[in-house]
Amino acid sequence: MVFVLKPGRSLEEIDLFVERIESRGFKTFLSIGTEHTVVCLIGNTASIDLDAVVQANDIVQYGKRVTEPYKAVNRTVHPEDTVVNAGSVPVGSGMFQVIAGPCSVESEEQIIEVARSVKASGATLLRGGAFKPRTSPYAFMGMREEGIRLLLMAKRETGLPVVTEVMNQTQLPLFEDIDVIQVGARNMQNFDLLREVGRYNKPVLLKRGLANTLEELLMSAEYIMSEGNSQVILCERGIRTFETSTRNTLDLSAIPLLKQKSHLPVIVDPSHAAGIRALVAPLARAAVAVGADGLMIETHNDPAQALCDGAQSLNLSQFSDLMEDLKRRIAFEGKQIGAV
Ligand code: PEP
Ligand code: MN
Repeated sequence: MVFVLKPGRSLEEIDLFVERIESRGFKTFLSIGTEHTVVCLIGNTASIDLDAVVQANDIVQYGKRVTEPYKAVNRTVHPEDTVVNAGSVPVGSGMFQVIAGPCSVESEEQIIEVARSVKASGATLLRGGAFKPRTSPYAFMGMREEGIRLLLMAKRETGLPVVTEVMNQTQLPLFEDIDVIQVGARNMQNFDLLREVGRYNKPVLLKRGLANTLEELLMSAEYIMSEGNSQVILCERGIRTFETSTRNTLDLSAIPLLKQKSHLPVIVDPSHAAGIRALVAPLARAAVAVGADGLMIETHNDPAQALCDGAQSLNLSQFSDLMEDLKRRIAFEGKQIGAV
């Protein structure tokens, strides 16, 4: 249940109303937007007479029952778009960002060359895996601590904010200077990890699980938000279907649906969705057209030699060509790329 408050009310009045509600045994979540302030009640609200609360409290404009199980991420609770500040760049509400870089950090030369090149092409964030979740225990697992160190070196060198994946909560102390913590598809329902990144004051890029519904994705975002971290970016990265000609199937309808249901920004990863280099550009264009707030594109200086996901990685000149094309399309959608 949510109560939308009348505009221009003081913090004291809001606190008083919240106290009154909480004294009835409910937990509340306060959402202060530029236009609306909303008090969301968590718990079984069946016993509450909505009209009676509206009548008894002059501060309340109207009340509404939220039937979905996700509350904090729900657009009903927070009607305005959330903008996530990923280091120096805002994501969402008209600000479109492109995250580029290799699947994994492989060497100083590799990450620095890729970082410089993607920045020159217009990427606004750098990615690079240090801890890699791999299907085979015999595959390259990432450079781990050393990978984080090299990624931070590339950040200092280019000024690009950096995104990298955390696989479990014990690794989090290493992420202090990382700008955006990625929770990968395989960890989307690792609830202890979600709670822990929720207690961390840093943006989280939450990828949709291989076989998870949109409601499950939103409930995972709810885990993070319920711990106090509202800086969550959702990422559609393809789901498992019966189709075997692509690595996954990009669920394009997820983007407008997620944006209707939630106020959180939504980005698309066409690389892991397709698994095929030639499909990355067309799917990236489609993502822009259906309203995504950003893209994550695997880019490598030498894809043929990549230690991970080479077949879906663009080389540096392919990425540069794609960016030229995307810049026009992003502007056509009325969005801006980069800092404000
Ligand atoms: C990645 O971004 O490198 C990755 C492993 O992605 P996902 O979790 O979507 O498979
Ligand atoms: Mn990858």
